[in-house]
Amino acid sequence: MLTVDYVIVGGGSGGCALAGRLSEDPETSVALVEAGAGKGDSTLIQTPGVMTAMVAKPINTNVP
Ligand SMILES: Cc1cc2nc3c(=O)[nH]c(=O)nc-3n(C[C@H](O)[C@H](O)[C@H](O)COP(=O)(O)OP(=O)(O)OC[C@H]3O[C@@H](n4cnc5c(N)ncnc54)[C@H](O)[C@@H]3O)c2cc1C
Repeated sequence: MLTVDYVIVGGGSGGCALAGRLSEDPETSVALVEAGAGKGDSTLIQTPGVMTAMVAKPINTNVP
């Protein structure tokens, strides 16, 4: 059975930074579990410039 010291769920910005720092210690074992980002075929991804529509800001949310 595989045992590790740390299990990190999510290989995004935070998860990768954390896994990188923790794994600098050769005595420490780290498992990083990433769900995957899907096909990436959304119009928001495929259309140049439209990615800005995903950035959280008042114009994209109902938060004033
Ligand atoms: C279009 C866009 C542009 C941006 N541009 C910038 C920029 O220029 N500069 C900047 O500083 N920030 C930018 N940001 C914001 C930045 O991307 C986020 O603030 C940052 O990625 C958040 O990091 P995080 O680790 O919290 O989450 P994320 O990076 O979103 O990582 C979360 C990870 O967890 C995974 N996950 C979710 N559920 C599960 C599960 N059940 N099991 C396993 N894995 C799972 C996801 O697949 C994902 O990989 C941008 C965001 C967007 C959407």
